[in-house]
Amino acid sequence: MKPIIERLFRYVKIDTQSTWEAETVPASANEFVLGQLLVDELKEMGIDNAWMDDKAYVFSHIPANTEKDVPPIAFFAHLDTAPDETGANVNPRIVENWDGSDIVLNEQKGAVLSISKFPYLEASIGKDLIVTDGNSLLGADDKAGVAEIMEAAKYIMEHPEFQHGEVHICFTPDEEIGNSTEYIPIENVPAKYGYTMDGGELGEINFENFNAATATVKVNGVAIHPGESKGKMKNAIMLATDFINHLPWRESPVNTEGYEGFYHVTNISGSVDQAEITIAIRDFFEDGYEYRKKRVQEITEHLNGYYGEGTFETEIEDYYLNMAIEVDKCPVVKENALKAMKMAGVEPIVIPIRGGTDGSSISFMGMPCPNIFMGSANSHSIYEYCTVQSMEKAMEVILNIIRLFAES
Ligand SMILES: [Zn+2]
Repeated sequence: MKPIIERLFRYVKIDTQSTWEAETVPASANEFVLGQLLVDELKEMGIDNAWMDDKAYVFSHIPANTEKDVPPIAFFAHLDTAPDETGANVNPRIVENWDGSDIVLNEQKGAVLSISKFPYLEASIGKDLIVTDGNSLLGADDKAGVAEIMEAAKYIMEHPEFQHGEVHICFTPDEEIGNSTEYIPIENVPAKYGYTMDGGELGEINFENFNAATATVKVNGVAIHPGESKGKMKNAIMLATDFINHLPWRESPVNTEGYEGFYHVTNISGSVDQAEITIAIRDFFEDGYEYRKKRVQEITEHLNGYYGEGTFETEIEDYYLNMAIEVDKCPVVKENALKAMKMAGVEPIVIPIRGGTDGSSISFMGMPCPNIFMGSANSHSIYEYCTVQSMEKAMEVILNIIRLFAES
């Protein structure tokens, strides 16, 4: 088996599933186990400065071997797997030179990986697919990213003739529950530019993501015995549905794609006297984002005019912002990524992320940080798979980026 695949298999065997209920950082104690394994492996390569902190962040760097003034760059990947599907007892297998026919993952469960179900699989015909046994996710998100960075580091250490500036490596815990950059001591990664290896299939690259806000609407009703409530009761549940009906249905997740933003009601709870609605507001563009936030406030005022002042109370908080705001300030970070792909014979597929990404918070910490494919798809499910050839290309892209910065 190829060393990069041996690596992936070794890492996915450690169950590092994050859970929303976790009260610790990292969410899973096994993130320490994987983190320590990576520290040990980095040291074996001769990178003696590798270490892990008390929250399972792993840091290390390869010193520059050139006299030239090369900006330090960093590569990030995350240690945990998604809460959606178990990460225990992962049992990966390789389907070599796949002919495009149905892959039965699990006969008992009737779990089949097929082109009819996942049409984009067609691009992987003729390649070596790594799949699950249908009982767990694969964990290639993001252990493929981890393996690619590790294998690139090993290459650099074994090839002293390969010219490079300072290369930082950082593995983070708890990405899947939105916490991986929450506690990151970014001063331990003194790089000018960064890349997360946490994208999708071959060629995918992201320079932008949604601007995201969360609106919390409190509904203050009036509860009175229903037999005597004519003209007096204000049923908070009914008022809440009225509020939701004022949101433009056409602009909801089910009706939008590409660069279109949306309003997404994520939660509603309540009784006759009190209710609460949570709305996710998403938009790629600054003016559209501001407009959407304003619109939710306008609906609040409009309905208060009808039902009475103070019936609806809306609070809107920014959640994360579009990394393009920072990434666009440094064209070289985009140019070198695109060039690095072409050098590896990979046609870049630039996709705006209809969600968030670690690179967003890292970018706003002062290190522009796009996201690059790691070669997997169907993340967070038993249908997750990755392609050996895509992983190898991702590793090549890492080395090419390092090479390009050293040459420029
Ligand atoms: Zn991921």
